[in-house]
Amino acid sequence: MDIDSIGRAYAAVEGSIKIAKALAGASSAIEVAELKLRAAELINSLADIKIELAASKDEKQRLQHEIEELRDTLQLKATVVRLLDAFYTADAEGKPTGDPFCSRCWQVDHRLIYLSGPQIGTANTNCTHCRSSYASRRTPFSADKFIEANPQYLTKV
Ligand SMILES: [Zn+2]
Repeated sequence: MDIDSIGRAYAAVEGSIKIAKALAGASSAIEVAELKLRAAELINSLADIKIELAASKDEKQRLQHEIEELRDTLQLKATVVRLLDAFYTADAEGKPTGDPFCSRCWQVDHRLIYLSGPQIGTANTNCTHCRSSYASRRTPFSADKFIEANPQYLTKV
């Protein structure tokens, strides 16, 4: 429910209250007949409010889901580190460990997608999700072993 929807719902509630008050104070047959017409407007207003509230409920659920995703992303961000052209899970000391995740998927979509190993005849690792391709020498598998053999890269993390 955006600000305009809230304004419309509020106006519909105010109009409904006015009509209900007029109905309660009506005494003559003419007033009652006129108010019956306004009661029809009241029903329409209430139907509009019902629709706005349903939309508001959906929007609230969508926003809660988005908040949960952002919280998950923030938690993941604390446990992921970059090494060369890929991201890795960080160990307790903050060093990259395990196999590479796609940089594009992490940086654009905040999703951790493992890269698949080079196919025979190529020197590239690939993302099965976004189809990005990386030089396999810049996206090593078993990052801990890579760091052990190439400690000079650790300072660049
Ligand atoms: Zn990807």
